[in-house]
Amino acid sequence: MENAYTKSVFEKLSASNAHETEFLQAVEAFLEAIEVVIDEDDTYQQHAILERMVEPERIITFQVPWVDDNNQIQINKGYRVQFNSANGPYKGGLRFHPTVTQSVLKFLAFEQIFKNSLTNLPIGGGKGGSDFDPKGRSDNEIMRFCHSFMLELTKYVGSDYDVPSGDIGVGQRELSYLYGTYKKLQGPHLGVFTGKPTNLYGSFGRTEATGYGLIYFLNEMLAVTNESLVGKKVIISGSGNVAYYAAKKVQELGGIVISMSDSNATVYNLAGIDLDAIKALKIDHSDRIVNYQIKDEVTKIEEKSVWDIDLEADIALPCATQNEINEDQAKRLIKNGVKFVAEGANMPTHSNGIKVFKEAAIYYAPGKASNAGGVAVSALEMSQNAQRLQWTTEDVDRQLQGIMKQIFVQCQQACEDYKLGFDYAAGADIASFKKVAKQMIQLGI
Ligand code: GLU
Repeated sequence: MENAYTKSVFEKLSASNAHETEFLQAVEAFLEAIEVVIDEDDTYQQHAILERMVEPERIITFQVPWVDDNNQIQINKGYRVQFNSANGPYKGGLRFHPTVTQSVLKFLAFEQIFKNSLTNLPIGGGKGGSDFDPKGRSDNEIMRFCHSFMLELTKYVGSDYDVPSGDIGVGQRELSYLYGTYKKLQGPHLGVFTGKPTNLYGSFGRTEATGYGLIYFLNEMLAVTNESLVGKKVIISGSGNVAYYAAKKVQELGGIVISMSDSNATVYNLAGIDLDAIKALKIDHSDRIVNYQIKDEVTKIEEKSVWDIDLEADIALPCATQNEINEDQAKRLIKNGVKFVAEGANMPTHSNGIKVFKEAAIYYAPGKASNAGGVAVSALEMSQNAQRLQWTTEDVDRQLQGIMKQIFVQCQQACEDYKLGFDYAAGADIASFKKVAKQMIQLGI
C-alpha cells in the first residue's frame, strides 16, 4: 500500500483487529486495489469514507443453547454482521460451520457489500451464522438448533431491513425452519429470507443461480479471447450447490468437468466425471466423495485437495471455501496449463495465490464478481415476494444472464478507465467502491 490515507486506515484497523486475519486479508486486498481512485480524489478522505467502510455498522452476537438427541445441552455462538446499508437492506447468507468466527463473518460481510453493489439491485452487505456443525446431526437436532438461533436473530432481521439467505451448511431445510420460527414470532413476512423452497415462495432458479452465474461470467471472460467452453477441461473444487450447478452448466456448454471434491477427497477423470453420480451422492444424500462408485478404470479418488493433484486443464473453478488455493497450488495450476480461474466460493484464493495468477497474466475472476449470481437471484426473490408473484425459471435465468453480463461490463470498464489491462479483481473493487462511496456521501454522516 502506498497512499498515505489507505495506509493509515489499514494500520489502525490492523492494530485494533490483529487477530481477525481473514477480515484483514479481505480489506487489505480491497484497499490496495482502490488506491488508484483514492490517489485521484481527496473527497473520500474528507468524508472519512474508508474509516467508515471498514467498520461494520453493527455486529450482533448471541448464545445459541439447544438440546441434542441425547438430552445433552449444547451451546454455540450465533452472529449477524450488518456491515453496510448504503445500497439497501442488509443482505447476505448464514453459514453454519465449525470454522465460523467473527473474523470469517466480517470478511464475508465486507465482500458482500461490494458484490451486492455490483448486481445493481438495492441490497446492502451483511452475513451471519454460527460455529454449529450440522454434519451428522439429525433432522430434529437441526430444527431445534434453528429454532434457538432464530429466537434471538428474529429481533434483528426483517424483509425491508436485513434479509438472510443460505451459505455453507444452510440450505432450504434450514431456511424453512428458520423462517418457520420467525413466522411464529413475527408473522408470515415471506420476504425475510431468500433461498426458500419454491413451494414456500422461494425463487425458481435460486439453487442453481450461483453456479450458473459463475459460468455466465466465465463465458464473458472467454469471449474476450474469442474462446468458448467447448472442449475445455475444467477443474472444479467442492461438490455443493455452487460446484454442482457450475459443473452442470460447463457440461451443457460443451466443457469437460475433470474433477470435483469435498473436504476429504477428490474424484477425477481427464475424460470427464459422472455428474449424475455426484448429484446422487452429494446433493441428494449429503454423502462423501470417498463413497463415489467408480465404474471405469480411468476415474480416480484421492484423499487430498484437488489443488494438490497434477491435472492438466484449461480452467479452474474454486467453489469450496476461503483460502483453499495457496501460492504453491496456484503455481501448480499455471504449470498444468490453466489459463482462466473464476471463483465460485468467497475469497478461495489466498492473496499470494492471486499474485501468482496476476504475474502469470492469466484471466482471473474474483468471487465478489463471479459468484454474485446467487445473491442477485436472492434480490429477485425479494422482488417476487414483495409483488406476491413467482416468476418462471426462464424469466429468472434470463435476468441472471443480464446481471452477470453487466457485472462483467462494470469490471471491464473500470479496467479500461484505470488502464488495468484485464485485472478484473481490481476492476470489481473499483467499480463497486465508487458506487458505495457515492451513496455514503449522499446519505451524509
Ligand atoms: N451466500 C451467498 C453469497 O455468498 C448468497 C447470499 C444471499 O443470497 O443472500 O453471496
